[in-house]
Amino acid sequence: MRSIGFPELVVVFMVAILFLLLPLIAGVVLVWTLLNRRQQGLLIPARSCPHCSQQIPTLGSFCPLCGQRIP
Ligand SMILES: [Zn+2]
Repeated sequence: MRSIGFPELVVVFMVAILFLLLPLIAGVVLVWTLLNRRQQGLLIPARSCPHCSQQIPTLGSFCPLCGQRIP
């Protein structure tokens, strides 16, 4: 079995990082574009209140229905 030197290990490591980072960057760009498209599509993005589980707008830190603070 041939022994692998340190420069070869560095090259293998860099190639592995490259092949790991390329799908990661592609996924991040894809999610980013989807989020931007969703923000443009929806005028008021909604989330659910943890206290009364009602759909509330993301703007504001208090629920308009039950008056509880949104974390
Ligand atoms: Zn609420």
